[in-house]
Amino acid sequence: TNLIELQHVWKRYDTGGEIVEALKDVDFRADPGEFVAVMGPSGSGKSTMLNVLGLLDTPSEGRVLLEGSDVTDLSDQEMTVQRKQFIGFIFQSFHLIPTLTALENVEVPTLFGNDPAARDRAETLLERVGLGDRLDHRPDQLSGGQKQRVAIARSLINNPRILLADEPTGNLDRKTGRSVLDLFDEIRLEDDVAVIAVTHDPQLAEFADRTVNIIDGRIQ
Ligand code: ADP
Ligand code: ADP
Repeated sequence: TNLIELQHVWKRYDTGGEIVEALKDVDFRADPGEFVAVMGPSGSGKSTMLNVLGLLDTPSEGRVLLEGSDVTDLSDQEMTVQRKQFIGFIFQSFHLIPTLTALENVEVPTLFGNDPAARDRAETLLERVGLGDRLDHRPDQLSGGQKQRVAIARSLINNPRILLADEPTGNLDRKTGRSVLDLFDEIRLEDDVAVIAVTHDPQLAEFADRTVNIIDGRIQ
């Protein structure tokens, strides 16, 4: 079975009279350990697809399967449980909390879980992404590449099976971007995690196992 699968997914937005079809009959799967790039022009449906894969949004039609289980019709609460268990998110703009240290930022997803081992795990993850000597630095004391490494460590704190990344190299120069890609590569091989990245970055697309192109809501 596939780790995650979209079957005939349509997404329609009603914008007060006009219906926008953001996804049109999208079929997509990713396997453990795979690195998939999703490319396409602005407005083609990439963010919508990422939101559906991330269980942040539900399709208007079609099914979403996680490890073969249909999760399309789960309640919001059940969806949140699945999201926390399966999925980590990474963003172009890092989304770190400026007043917290690197270590505290990595712990954020565990804060409501009452998990005494969370701090140790956060530290181990920061060491793993090469920031063992930056635990107490705040985001404004870190470079762009270091901030993205903190965000990647944070995305791994709940041991997800899938990493969803929105332009993860978009704010990084080529060399720093490359080192972030190498880190994704390490993670997917060691943890058997699927990495799915929306991108305009040719370097990322070249690095990925495969590229999916989406134009006007349709996978080409
Ligand atoms: P991309 O990420 O490729 O730029 P999006 O998924 O953001 O594309 O958008 C796809 C289409 O859906 C666009 O026409 C966009 O305007 C529309 N869209 C996205 N989100 C909404 C929304 N919440 N309400 C209405 N229309 C939306
Ligand atoms: P950009 O890549 O331009 O910086 P963002 O990273 O702000 O854009 O947001 C990308 C997408 O991620 C949006 O469609 C938004 O709905 C979603 N998103 C934003 N914040 C979160 C969050 N905390 N958890 C999960 N998804 C989020």
